[in-house]
Amino acid sequence: MSGPAVAVRDLHVSLDGVPILAGVDLTVAPGEWVTVIGPNGAGKSTLLRAVGGLLATPGAVSLFGTPSEALRRRDRARVVATVAQSPVVPPGMTVLDYVLLGRTPYIPPLGRESAADLAAAHDVLDRLDLTGFHDRELATLSGGERQRVFLARALAQGATLLLLDEPTSALDIGHQQEVLELVDQLRRAHGLTVLATMHDLSVAGEYADRMVLLADGRVVASGTPREVLTEQLLAEHYRASVRVVDGEHGPLVVPVRPEPRTVRAE
Ligand code: ADP
Ligand code: MG
Repeated sequence: MSGPAVAVRDLHVSLDGVPILAGVDLTVAPGEWVTVIGPNGAGKSTLLRAVGGLLATPGAVSLFGTPSEALRRRDRARVVATVAQSPVVPPGMTVLDYVLLGRTPYIPPLGRESAADLAAAHDVLDRLDLTGFHDRELATLSGGERQRVFLARALAQGATLLLLDEPTSALDIGHQQEVLELVDQLRRAHGLTVLATMHDLSVAGEYADRMVLLADGRVVASGTPREVLTEQLLAEHYRASVRVVDGEHGPLVVPVRPEPRTVRAE
């Protein structure tokens, strides 16, 4: 397969008759990290679901040069791994069994996981600071631990394209950095492509090669973090009062309380 890792052309999505995405274009090169930002309800998760093959998108989405609808389920799973914003937690399932679900595309139908599948699952659990969690039930984990398990499953899948929908929103600042550094290391070592959404704009800008600002189902800005994270664009599309200052690895976005409106006493 060749061509851009992700090519989205004039994507329109309506859900229950409501237009959610209206003519979205997006290209992600192999090895690139692109982060989609935008206010709540802008359509970020819907865009990632469309790219991940969870929505019908006739003719609008290609992965590595292959039209999405031409990919069979098993082949798609080797190409693209998704961490959804709120994954469904199968009741009673242990951490190890959940991470092994990521190996499904490599296990023959009616077969069992191989030693290599188990080794891949253990390796990724170790890397995500989850050694010792193998036999715990998912339901007993903290929100942050569970979020790392979701990522572990996606990484164990060994896909070349990672779709990460707010992968760090439940993590403390230390685990947030650890997880994003790990994803970036894997990207550099194995040429992974990352398409993510994130709410922390400073962190988003530190890791992304390019950013796309989505508002009301349309791309309203795209470019380097410096081009997209501007006080003007953030004021316009988030109605946020922020200052953007230069950081070591990109612009830092600092929320600043707006001037209080003067209330005149009667
Ligand atoms: P974001 O991830 O940017 O917060 P989403 O992609 O989750 O936004 O949602 C975009 C819009 O689509 C929201 O207004 C949401 O309410 C709406 N939406 C999502 N799923 C459905 C659905 N199944 N039916 C109707 N509207 C939906
Ligand atoms: Mg979302």
